[in-house]
Amino acid sequence: VMPDVKGDVAFEHVTFGYEEGENILENLSFSYPAGTMVALVGQTGAGKSTVANLLGRYYDIQSGRITIDGIDIKSVTIKSLREQLGFMLQDSFVFSGTIMENIRYGRLEATDEEVIAAAKAVNAHDFISELPNGYQTAVSERGSMLSAGQRQLISLARAMLKNPRVLVLDEATSSIDTETEIKIMEGIAAILKNRTSFVIAHRLSTIKSADVILVIGNKGIIEKGSHEEL
Ligand code: ATP
Ligand code: MG
Repeated sequence: VMPDVKGDVAFEHVTFGYEEGENILENLSFSYPAGTMVALVGQTGAGKSTVANLLGRYYDIQSGRITIDGIDIKSVTIKSLREQLGFMLQDSFVFSGTIMENIRYGRLEATDEEVIAAAKAVNAHDFISELPNGYQTAVSERGSMLSAGQRQLISLARAMLKNPRVLVLDEATSSIDTETEIKIMEGIAAILKNRTSFVIAHRLSTIKSADVILVIGNKGIIEKGSHEEL
């Protein structure tokens, strides 16, 4: 079982390819102490989302090690690993149920007030309040009725409620209206405080606030540094 972590994260010589096809990452290594904000950038198809998915053990690596607080994520249960992580994925998922239930999924014992506070903290509250039934609005699995941006806001609220030490945010690439875009940006800024984060960033504003930027390509890191250095 993965204990409660501080949030040191390391990839050690990680090589990975999806079942069919060539390696996407080869011998990838990096190590960051708890609290570091890491931005992952690079061309489409470079492997940014793959790095994020590997951290949650959505796929098994071919060789190397991924550790959190020095613990190999392969040595603990997937469930206990994911309890320590928060995710906002590129295609943020909602399941059929109310918006309240969708956010509460981050921490099942949370009260309505805690759910609403989390939504407020990441800027999701305004759009939810404007829906016909507010937090009791039913959404379907495919998220019909909600835009990609709104699904990301729900996903952010869910992560905020969970309050993990390590956060993975994969900013949506689909077109998001400017107003929602600004809300997500502010929501991301709010949730990042005091955590280790891996942010797959498409927005310059997100990239600028990172402690370190990794440019992913050629099956590894092409370049790394701060925004000023790159
Ligand atoms: P984008 O900026 O478009 O989101 P990315 O850097 O996140 O790109 P990945 O999604 O990590 O890129 O994909 C890296 C490579 O792995 C691509 O060639 C992609 O086609 C392939 N790939 C991604 N997911 C899968 C999968 N589930 N099965 C097989 N191949 C995949
Ligand atoms: Mg991606």
